[in-house]
Amino acid sequence: MENKNISAIKFENISFSYPGEKECLNDISFNINSGEKVLLLGKNGSGKSTISKLIDGILKPNSGDIYIFNNKMNDDNAPTLREDIGLIFQNPDEQFICSTVKEEIAFGLENRCVDPKDMKDIILDCAKKVSMENYLESEPSNLSGGQKQRVALAAFIALSPKILILDEATAMLDPKGKKDVENIIVQMKKENKDLTIIKISHEMEDFDLYDRIIIVKDNKIFFNDVPSKLNLEIINDAKINIPFYFEIVKQLNSKVNGLSSVKSSLDLMELLCQLKLKN
Ligand code: ADP
Repeated sequence: MENKNISAIKFENISFSYPGEKECLNDISFNINSGEKVLLLGKNGSGKSTISKLIDGILKPNSGDIYIFNNKMNDDNAPTLREDIGLIFQNPDEQFICSTVKEEIAFGLENRCVDPKDMKDIILDCAKKVSMENYLESEPSNLSGGQKQRVALAAFIALSPKILILDEATAMLDPKGKKDVENIIVQMKKENKDLTIIKISHEMEDFDLYDRIIIVKDNKIFFNDVPSKLNLEIINDAKINIPFYFEIVKQLNSKVNGLSSVKSSLDLMELLCQLKLKN
């Protein structure tokens, strides 16, 4: 059962500035329901990461209220509310603290006092879900970028939080690494339809795969609606780069069949390869 009517994250009139800096977020409000898949867009420096850190309770707003599953966040309950949230950054090295993949996945479980006799099975199961079961003894710093993000996801899966925030988590990966991570997330969503996913990006790649798009601009929420309501004027106004594949699809539109199925640069590459094989 999907719980799309339950609020997972609610920002009510949130303003925030870093100490000694000008205002970073000015009176922003939005709601994200449980089970929604949201793309949070904005050019670099627009405040997206700050929003993710406010959701995770790493930062505290100067004014306004944040609700996680209808619980108003405060100093006392922030650590508990945080247990429902998994935050994955662009550079996983910054969040790895253990010397092996196995320990990294176990870390959160130990914090939650999971019975040590259950731990081995949970770790193996989670590592299998991200195809990292053969790397349990490896040092996280020796893995490729894509493998690191898969380990970060395994550590997330182990704790089964309800909200996953991917903050530019695939920005540094090659197309294969990106696709691997995306496939894992699609699978996670299949297994748990109530999982709320927020992808933070400065790029619009795959934007039409989301339930909703929120764009931040000039310290404010500039757009908050379904992808079909997005148009070139809004995209240009928010200074968001149009994906390269989008431009190509636009140019090829009347000339090539099958373009409607192209939702990413990888899709476009596959279509072009098929056309080449046919000719
Ligand atoms: P985005 O994720 O959209 O790139 P950020 O939320 O990282 O944007 O940053 C928003 C603004 O806050 C930027 O102007 C950035 O320089 C500033 N900023 C981010 N982190 C800090 C910090 N720790 N101290 C001071 N200013 C910061």
